[in-house]
Amino acid sequence: MPQRKRITETEALLKLSTKISAKTDLLSLLRLINDLAVQLIDADRASLFILDQTTREIWTLLADGETVIRIPEGKGIVGQVIAGKNLLNVPDVTADPRFYADVDERTGYETRSILCVPLVNRAGDAFGAIEVLNKNDGVFSRKDEQLLRVLGTQAGLSIENIEMYNDIQRNCAQLQLLLDIQKNTNVSMDIGQILPAILSSLLPALHATCGMICLISGNGAVSTYSYHSRYGGRYWENIDRRKCPAYMKKLVDETERYKKEHENQEFFHEPGIAWAQLEREGSPIGYISIMLSSDQETYSTPVSYDYLKVIARQTVSLISMQEVLEESRRSEKQALLGTMLSSIVHDMRNPLSGISGFIQLIKRKVEERKIQSYCDIILDRLAYIETMNSELLLFIKGESIELEKTSIVLRKYFEDLLIGFAGSFSNKNIDVELVCPERIEIQADFGRLTRVFTNILTNAREAIGTDGSIRIELTRNDKRAIIKISDSGNGMPAHVREKIFQPFATYGKKGGTGLGMAIAKNIIDKHNGSIEVSSRLGKGTTFIIQIPID
Ligand code: ADP
Ligand code: MG
Repeated sequence: MPQRKRITETEALLKLSTKISAKTDLLSLLRLINDLAVQLIDADRASLFILDQTTREIWTLLADGETVIRIPEGKGIVGQVIAGKNLLNVPDVTADPRFYADVDERTGYETRSILCVPLVNRAGDAFGAIEVLNKNDGVFSRKDEQLLRVLGTQAGLSIENIEMYNDIQRNCAQLQLLLDIQKNTNVSMDIGQILPAILSSLLPALHATCGMICLISGNGAVSTYSYHSRYGGRYWENIDRRKCPAYMKKLVDETERYKKEHENQEFFHEPGIAWAQLEREGSPIGYISIMLSSDQETYSTPVSYDYLKVIARQTVSLISMQEVLEESRRSEKQALLGTMLSSIVHDMRNPLSGISGFIQLIKRKVEERKIQSYCDIILDRLAYIETMNSELLLFIKGESIELEKTSIVLRKYFEDLLIGFAGSFSNKNIDVELVCPERIEIQADFGRLTRVFTNILTNAREAIGTDGSIRIELTRNDKRAIIKISDSGNGMPAHVREKIFQPFATYGKKGGTGLGMAIAKNIIDKHNGSIEVSSRLGKGTTFIIQIPID
C-alpha cells in the first residue's frame, strides 16, 4: 500500500510541474493545486487565501463549495499562519482559541481539523495561505504537513512566476498599444479623428467594446468623442443620455454614477467600468471612460488598467500637440488673410474716390435740393468707408495710429452716440440706461473712440436680438475714467472670450469680420487705457474700459 501511495504522489507532482511549465492561466493552475491537496492529503476540502494589501482582508481566491470568504487580517488559523509565516496543524478546532468560528456559522460547514501553510514569495513575505480541512480518517500527519508544504511552495512560486510573466506580457502589450496609437494617428489629423483612433486601439486591449473621451472646456461645455467596436466613432456636443443611442446610454449612465462615487480620484476601475482623468499641468481637462464586459476576471483586472493611465497621458500630449499645430495654422492663415485684405482695400480706394468725385459733380449740377441732400448722405457714407479702409490698412500693417485728441465730456458724448442707436434699439425693444453721477472729461480721439463704442453697442445689440437691456455706467477714480457697458445678451463661450481681442475672432453671427474688438483694443491701448471683458453664457456681457484723464 505505501508503495502505491508514493507513486500517486509522484504522479501528482509530475502533473503539477507539467502544468506549471505549460504556462497555463493562474486560476486553473491554482485549482489543480487545490484539488491535489484534497486528494493527496485525503481531506474534505481545501481553500486558497490571498491577503489583500489595500483592504487588509484575507479572502478566498479559491474555495470548495462556498462563495468568497473574507476574514480580517490576523484572524483565525489562516490569519495566524500568514502573520507568523508558519505551518499550523490543528487536530481539534474546538480546543483552539485561535479558530475563527464566524465562517462556519455563516456557511453552515462544520470544521473539525485544519492544516494550513503560508504562501511565501521570493522576498520572504507571506501573501496568502493554503488550508485543508477535515482529514477523512483522524488527524493530519507529519507526511500531510510535508505534502502541503511542497504544494504551498509550488503555489507561491507559481503565483509569483505567473504574475511576473503577466507583467512582462502586459508591458509588451502596453508598448504595442502605444505603437499602434502612434501608427494610427498623425499630425495631419484633427482632434475629431485622433481621439476615436486612440479609442479604437485601446478598446481591444482592454477587451472592451465601447468607450469615450470627454473634453471639458472652461465654461463647462463637454465635447465627447465616442467609439464603439460595431458602430464606429462619433462626436457629441454636451452629450445627453436621453438622446443618445442605447449602446451609449449605459456608458454615459455608469460614468456619471461612478464619477460621483469616486469624486476627486484620478483613476478608478471596477467590474463594468474603467475611468481615467486627463490632466494637463495639474488641472483636469477631461476624462476617458471605458465600458468593460462584466465577465472579466476581477483578480486580473487591477494591473491591466495601467494601460488606461498610460493612454490618458498619451492622449493629453496628442491634444496639446494638436492645439499648438492649430495655433500655428491659424497664424499662417491670418498672415495670408492680412495680405489679401490689404490688397483688396488698396484696390477699392481708386473706384471709391472716383465715385466720390462723380457724386460731388452731380451735387453741383443738379438744382433739386432733395437730390443734393441724397448726395450729401452718399458722400458721408463714402467718407466713412474711406476711414474704415485706412484704419483696416493701418491695423493690418500694424502701424501706429496718430491720435487726434480733443476734450470729450463723457455724458454728452454717450447721449449723442445713443441718438444714432435710438431707432434700432426701440425697434428691437432694447432699453438703454445711461448712468453718470458726475462730470467726467477726458482727452481722446473722438472719431476713434466712436469706432470703439459703436462696435461695442452693435455687438451688444446683436447679442440681445430682441427684448433686453443695455446699461452704460460712467464713473472715475483719481486718474481714470471708467466706462462700464453691460448687456443682457446671450453672452459668449470661453473660447470666444479668450480670443475676443484677437483679429478675425468672430463667432455666432453672419457677416462678422472679427475685427471690431481687435481694433477697439488697439485704439484703447493707444490711449494708454485698458479694456476687459467678462461674460456668462446665456446671461450677458460686460466690458470695462478705462481711459486716463489727462
Ligand atoms: P464681429 O462682431 O465682426 O464678429 P468683434 O470683434 O466685434 O467681431 O466681436 C468678436 C466676437 O465676440 C463676436 O463675433 C461675438 O461672438 C463676440 N461678442 C462680442 N461682443 C459680444 C457681446 N456683447 N455679447 C456676446 N458676444 C459678443
Ligand atoms: Mg463687432
